[in-house]
Amino acid sequence: MASYEFRCGTCQKVFTVSLLISERAGAKPTCPACGTGTVEPVFSPFFTVTSKKS
Ligand SMILES: [Zn+2]
Repeated sequence: MASYEFRCGTCQKVFTVSLLISERAGAKPTCPACGTGTVEPVFSPFFTVTSKKS
């Protein structure tokens, strides 16, 4: 289980959905605020892979 952020294309609200990795590709989350399905994934900077060499 992992949490993914999505942003509503209608009201711009960002919300988090918990999905299994295997569910990620086919997931069709809807906005909890306005109910539309027009959402797009938000890639949080927290998930950015950094290559740090010591
Ligand atoms: Zn919305």
